[in-house]
Amino acid sequence: MTQWLFPPRAVPSLPITGGDRRFPVRRILCVGQNYAAHAREMGSDPDKQTPFFFSKPGDAIVADGQDPAYPSATDNLHYEAELVAAIGPTPDGGIGIVGWAVGCDLTRRDLQAEAKKAGRPWDAAKGFDQSAPCGAITLGALPHPAGAIGLSVNGETKQAGTLDDMILNPDRIVEAAGALWTLQPGDLIFTGTPSGVGPVRPGDRIVVTIDGLETLSFEIKP
Ligand code: MN
Repeated sequence: MTQWLFPPRAVPSLPITGGDRRFPVRRILCVGQNYAAHAREMGSDPDKQTPFFFSKPGDAIVADGQDPAYPSATDNLHYEAELVAAIGPTPDGGIGIVGWAVGCDLTRRDLQAEAKKAGRPWDAAKGFDQSAPCGAITLGALPHPAGAIGLSVNGETKQAGTLDDMILNPDRIVEAAGALWTLQPGDLIFTGTPSGVGPVRPGDRIVVTIDGLETLSFEIKP
């Protein structure tokens, strides 16, 4: 029997709607600039580049109605409303999307701008502690593939898009991710955000909605 130096951490997980089962999270891949209007607001030309990937550690998940803390080392924390695809074993014996959730890709925008300018990695901007609030997973097909995705801060609408505005749809994202990594059960893919990203402060209440999926609501703790 393995003698651990210290007890291994519990596996991060998300609730699954309609029962007591949970989805064990392995790793989080995220798509950058997958909506043309958001790519433009970030200063990119969506016609000249294709969406790309970055990642967050699996334990960056904030689940079960928990509230993330305002992170250190930033004065410009941004929200990004995102559809999340959950990877697992498919009925045909393969690996693919088995469910969906509503997520928020929290971003230290100031550190991201510095990293972009210096040509450095985005880890500190994207993969920090508690950077991935995510709602419960709904198993099966995406209820409304052209449905609305929206985000409000303290009741004021900030993002209002539709899922069919994605440059790479979820199937193509899985194909592109699968060309780079061996996708495994437990992987989550944040599929990118529509335009309208912006800052939040401690005490702000963020509500993210996608048609047919369980709403994600959290407050930024001091
Ligand atoms: Mn994002």
